[in-house]
Amino acid sequence: MRIDILTLFPQMFNSLNFSVLKKAQDNKILNINLINIRDFSKDIHKKCDDYPYGGGAGMVMMAQPIYDAFKSINSTNCKVIFASPRGKVFTQQMAKELAKEEHLIFLCGHYEGVDERAIELLCAEEVSIGDYVLTGGELPAMVMIDSIARNIKGVICEQSLKEESFSNGLLEYPQYTRPEIFEGKKVPEILLSGHHKNIELWRQEQSKKITKKNRPDLY
Ligand code: SAM
Repeated sequence: MRIDILTLFPQMFNSLNFSVLKKAQDNKILNINLINIRDFSKDIHKKCDDYPYGGGAGMVMMAQPIYDAFKSINSTNCKVIFASPRGKVFTQQMAKELAKEEHLIFLCGHYEGVDERAIELLCAEEVSIGDYVLTGGELPAMVMIDSIARNIKGVICEQSLKEESFSNGLLEYPQYTRPEIFEGKKVPEILLSGHHKNIELWRQEQSKKITKKNRPDLY
């Protein structure tokens, strides 16, 4: 999958060069390309924002540098996502669907937001990562890219995707690793029994219990 990111702060995306995402890029499963919107400003001072028409607080990102940055991308089959608190809320299901795309473009807003005409011209779908407001769209884009990438075939083991939170509508069961006793706390006996059927039943029960407690809306 190819991912282009339109941003005023490309340095923030260094965090994508670690762990699973780095491996996916090294293995050529994922190709992440950063585009600095400022490079497309026609202003002598490379200005990319201006006061909002109609008045109000803060600055708005101008349409021209965003549109020209977008037009610099060569693609016939891409889906554009604008990270926005106004958008529909990102879910695991959305991550799975987007993981099937060939080419994604993320637009990251900043300041008070983005001139509406840029969003329209890019035919961007607005997606939020939750009901709160962040400084910019860079962190939301990274959150979505991480979640989408791990759902691309070959990035992580298929079994991990099948058994994690939300995969069957429930949250994940508790996990343990060595040592068997830590600070007097023992690993549940059932996990040492080697009885796979009983372990599966125990995990299902734990999943239900945790979901009911933490996310009754999912249960
Ligand atoms: N004035 C905007 C509003 O009230 O909806 C908020 C602008 S916010 C300070 C700046 C940028 O951060 C937005 O344009 C968007 O790209 C990004 N952003 C902030 N919160 C977000 C969220 N929950 N999900 C996705 N993007 C978000």
